[in-house]
Amino acid sequence: MNFCSRCGHALQEREIDGKVRPVCPACAAVVYRDPKVAVGVVAARAGAVLLTRRNHEPKMGQWSFPSGFVDAGEQVEEAAIREVREETGTEVRLDRLLGVFSETGNPVIFIAYAATVIDGEPVPGPECLAVEFFPPERMPELAFPHDGEILRRWATGGRCP
Ligand SMILES: [Zn+2]
Repeated sequence: MNFCSRCGHALQEREIDGKVRPVCPACAAVVYRDPKVAVGVVAARAGAVLLTRRNHEPKMGQWSFPSGFVDAGEQVEEAAIREVREETGTEVRLDRLLGVFSETGNPVIFIAYAATVIDGEPVPGPECLAVEFFPPERMPELAFPHDGEILRRWATGGRCP
């Protein structure tokens, strides 16, 4: 149960301008939910891609790209470099945007970059079971629905229109 930030009354779901939104029945405040912005990086070295094995839900134990949420006020590119550093112990240089992914009903907007590992050896961060470079021909199954498309765009040089 969520409560009105203005008056503290319990919120109700109501349709406002064609969308169901939390509304306060006491003071009529409408809650407009903001999206969350996440960033992920296909970080490569000598043609191999750096993947992290997740130690938390969702998709615990599965492999994916270093990724995480952008902090409010943080530049997206800085967040991308920070997430790679935190999760893998390596430093990257961002090369290009691979795409912006979103879907109806999902509050997360995911921004994917291609990058080159320029320093450091992979060491798993606190949110990873393992960190490893995988050549494209022996890539493990990846955790998230967009991961395959992101990898295709990286491999083919493609990006979002
Ligand atoms: Zn209220």
